[in-house]
Amino acid sequence: MIEQLHALLPPAPGTHAELLSLHFGSTIPGPKAYIQCALHADEIPGLLVGVHLRRELTLLESQGRLRGEVVLVPAANPLGGSQAVLGAQIGRFDLASGVNYNRGYLELTPALHQHLEGQLGPDAAGNTALIRRACTEALQAWSPATAPEALKRLLQLLAVDADTVLDLHCDSQALMHLYAPTPWAQTGLALGQWLGARVVLLAKESGDNPFDESVSRHWWELQEAYAGRHPIELGCFSTTVELRGEADVTHANARRDALGLLGFLEQRGHLEPGSIAPLAPTLKGLALPLEGVDPLVAPCGGVLVFGCELGQSVRAGQAVAEIIDPLTGGSTPVCSRVEGLFFAHSKTRWALRGQRIGKVAGAHAFRSGKLLSL
Ligand SMILES: [Zn+2]
Repeated sequence: MIEQLHALLPPAPGTHAELLSLHFGSTIPGPKAYIQCALHADEIPGLLVGVHLRRELTLLESQGRLRGEVVLVPAANPLGGSQAVLGAQIGRFDLASGVNYNRGYLELTPALHQHLEGQLGPDAAGNTALIRRACTEALQAWSPATAPEALKRLLQLLAVDADTVLDLHCDSQALMHLYAPTPWAQTGLALGQWLGARVVLLAKESGDNPFDESVSRHWWELQEAYAGRHPIELGCFSTTVELRGEADVTHANARRDALGLLGFLEQRGHLEPGSIAPLAPTLKGLALPLEGVDPLVAPCGGVLVFGCELGQSVRAGQAVAEIIDPLTGGSTPVCSRVEGLFFAHSKTRWALRGQRIGKVAGAHAFRSGKLLSL
């Protein structure tokens, strides 16, 4: 394993931050996998999964079981990891700008059209290599204006030539679930089964270019643009893994999740067959459109009391929670607009008007535009 330390753009003179990436099997020809932990720096479950992954990957490498390189970034956001306000860690947004660390990655397709003009040929594998080089060149040409933007560029560069990209996050309080690209629904379900995910949320474009889409979206966009002229593969499966809720940090979970991720990598051809023992079987989850998720919104402020449990199926119109005004005792229901699976909710029990307090995954798309929370 090779450790690489990447100096980050300092926000001010006299400050210094580094990103560590671990490169297992980097001299072995074969597919490349990329895993990063806690891009939202206050989402801790992924950090512990990363510790277990490092241990397992070290062992697998010593046993000669890697087929190609596996890159592990064990703490993807040193900038967010150092932020706190009055004792509360703030790792989702850059405090200086309010920018979300998982939005605003470089949209590659427009630059790729320019790079690839007259270059593509009749060979799909040749085109894949060409597109990967063009992605790297487009990212190298990006001049970041801020320290968070420089971090985004670095992470995107580390991942953009990978065949498989796993971005480890968590929700506030939630069941295990995934976000995956619609063209990769079956692969997303396969990973979901390794992890015991109840739901895989599918979209081709979620809005604001999050990290996972920034390394995969250009493949199907180019495939559609050059259909009938040049063969183009889907060169990268990328996914955001939501490792349950913020407080779900245990060695038992982390070890099982790490083995599940590695089992999936074996299935994808990144490890020799038989490297990972089969895990206890889990039910196959549901693949549902991200446009079908109802982000439950508080109609008023007050004490938040949930009437449904995570994992419960709810009907359209059913009250999932109530908000109680402590001054009057009055109660206002928060109802799901869709029939579906109640899979995530806020960990706090105080709601402000307009705040998103939970998520129900329905089967039918009814939203459009920007599909992710801020
Ligand atoms: Zn996150």
